[in-house]
Amino acid sequence: MTDGPSRRIRRAQVIDADAQVPVAIVGGGACGLTAALMLADAGIECVVLERDAVPSGSTALSSGFIPAPGTRVQREHGVTDDSAERFAADIQSKAHGRASQVLVDAYSKAVGPALDALQERHGLDWILLDGFLYPGHSVHRMHALPQKTGAALMARLQSAGETAGIPVLTQAVVDTLVVNSDDRVIGIEYRRPDGHRETLGCDVLLLACNGFGGNASMVRELLPEMAEATFGGHVGNDGSAILWGETLGARLRDLGGYQGHGSWVTPQGALMSWAVIMEGGVQINRDGRRFHDETQGYSEAAVHVLAQPGGIAWNVFDAPLLELARGFPDFCDAEAAGALRRCETVADLAACIGCDETVLAGTLLALREKAPQPDGRVFSRGLDAPYYAVKVTGALFHTQGGLDTTDDMRVLRANGSTFANLLAAGGAAGGVSGDAVWGYLSGNGLLSAVAGGYIAARTAAALVSSGES
Ligand SMILES: Cc1cc2nc3c(=O)[nH]c(=O)nc-3n(C[C@H](O)[C@H](O)[C@H](O)COP(=O)(O)OP(=O)(O)OC[C@H]3O[C@@H](n4cnc5c(N)ncnc54)[C@H](O)[C@@H]3O)c2cc1C
Repeated sequence: MTDGPSRRIRRAQVIDADAQVPVAIVGGGACGLTAALMLADAGIECVVLERDAVPSGSTALSSGFIPAPGTRVQREHGVTDDSAERFAADIQSKAHGRASQVLVDAYSKAVGPALDALQERHGLDWILLDGFLYPGHSVHRMHALPQKTGAALMARLQSAGETAGIPVLTQAVVDTLVVNSDDRVIGIEYRRPDGHRETLGCDVLLLACNGFGGNASMVRELLPEMAEATFGGHVGNDGSAILWGETLGARLRDLGGYQGHGSWVTPQGALMSWAVIMEGGVQINRDGRRFHDETQGYSEAAVHVLAQPGGIAWNVFDAPLLELARGFPDFCDAEAAGALRRCETVADLAACIGCDETVLAGTLLALREKAPQPDGRVFSRGLDAPYYAVKVTGALFHTQGGLDTTDDMRVLRANGSTFANLLAAGGAAGGVSGDAVWGYLSGNGLLSAVAGGYIAARTAAALVSSGES
């Protein structure tokens, strides 16, 4: 993590720009590239500015799983009982009603059409993950590319962008917004690797530069419980959007919301899918005990795991669950890096964890009870030897708080009015998880990026076409 960048607002009435473009997009992750593709479809010119030499963002580090109701792929799989309303209810239920309702409604309506458009117009061949349900989803609606990785998602979005002729200016760190006295953004300034500075004029600006997970001082201040946690996201998530927004007098929302993950394989540093836990795997601490209802969600599990002795836990499962785990590339990488332990007996497992064998035997025996566990979890079966174990810790994946926006992604001022031509989406905008770690429903991150990018493109196109910008 870095301690944070300098982000500036320069006031000027006119801009002497090296070039002018209708829509400038800061950030070339899932959000920025989705927006750019939708703008290209609408015949609106845009430029994406990306700090890295090769756009990757947190999107490339993610599993690339995107929840969406009512898609073509979902229907082809025979899932016909999903809807935007049902998805919205699942999102709010996970957030205990504390997510922004206008955004929940907007995203749950937009994400299906967004995935269909990316499939039909840009060839992203989604599959539906229908082997298990992620915590809080009442129906199978998780989409991915066949490779089931965020790296594949980024690669496909980038090649679609190249085919559509979208300019992506890499190694361009945007550090300054140029704003006139009416609070209208008239351009941006960015820094090149050799220190040279360039200026781009724009009619509409979309901030798609994600949140502040990579900014250590903001994490310390806003998410103290994650101050010492590993950050699994992209270091370029340095809080740029919030820093500009604060200076401009923008309203911020849900800064305490974030996606944690309680299954970050340590010391290898990889994600182990929560599917294994949902299907019967358990988390056991150094005392040989379970310590929470794992089915509540992997995000809040990060906090529970970090509270255990040494801040670690062991994901414990058996042979059928190992087979399920091996369906996830991230797990295969972790296994190849030596993370998987095989234990023939309870005594071996106790030695591996470093706990008392009798206590561990009691923990495993309790899984066979039909009655709910004291924490509320109900098991349909116990675990059978041989046992498998992977050591994990809690990690911060990305932040969910950000600039407050309308349902068409226009950034709001503190007084509730909108900036004329400033949009924010994806992790740069406030999300749909409320203001706490437990509000994160699986997939809320890419939901915000893809649905937000899709909606922002529509808004930007309308502003450009109407001449309002
Ligand atoms: C390990 C892991 C697994 C995850 N798995 C999932 C999952 O399966 N499903 C899900 O929904 N979510 C998942 N997430 C969360 C998800 O990755 C993010 O929510 C999502 O990628 C955000 O997309 P984005 O486009 O907003 O940001 P990003 O993909 O991070 O893109 C932002 C881009 O902006 C660039 N940038 C930032 N500042 C500047 C600047 N000043 N100038 C120029 N460029 C800039 C960055 O370099 C970056 O490329 C996961 C996260 C992690 C870490």
